[in-house]
Amino acid sequence: MPYDQLGAGGSLGGAPAPSRNDGRALRRLLDELGRLPGIGPKSAQRIAYHILGSDAEEARRLAQAILDVKQQVHFCPVCFSYATRERCDVCEDPSRDQASICVVSEPRDVTAIERTGAFHGLYHVLGGVISPMDKIGPEQLHVRELLSRLADGTVTEVILATNPDVEGETTATYLSRTIKPLGVHVTRLASGLPVGGDLEYADEVTLGRAIEARREL
Ligand SMILES: [Zn+2]
Repeated sequence: MPYDQLGAGGSLGGAPAPSRNDGRALRRLLDELGRLPGIGPKSAQRIAYHILGSDAEEARRLAQAILDVKQQVHFCPVCFSYATRERCDVCEDPSRDQASICVVSEPRDVTAIERTGAFHGLYHVLGGVISPMDKIGPEQLHVRELLSRLADGTVTEVILATNPDVEGETTATYLSRTIKPLGVHVTRLASGLPVGGDLEYADEVTLGRAIEARREL
């Protein structure tokens, strides 16, 4: 629908208009887009005008994709990454190395490591990092579930792949002290990752090398 038919340039006064003639529809879209991470007012405008200029079917597909992802994606009950089936694709894949678990703080870190193709084991998503400032301790994270995955002795190595910042290091140190007494090898991503940086934004080559050159903790 052309922009001018949305009434954005015209009649805002008087009785409430039917929604298709409501000039606030564009305002609402701009507000919602502006709430997204990394989207400033200019990007929000660019996206909003793109949507206005696209045909109704394209806009419907976008809206439906957003609704579907909220309806269909949930946390994997084993590793707490995102899943569309009962368990996530990695946990469902019998060809993955069952003896190795890579521990990350967020599901997006799984995506970052999968992109490198350097790791073929399983994952465990903590759901955050230890942060006394934010009152987040091990009991607020999926640490208990991690320890129970280590209980039957199948897993022989845990790779701690939390971000190389203060909280990520604190979390890695805590986990190392907790896991090592269980007789499991504990390794940490090699240096080379920017200190204070985000795993998510590391390039694939750097992150892949950091996994391959992981060191014993
Ligand atoms: Zn899983």
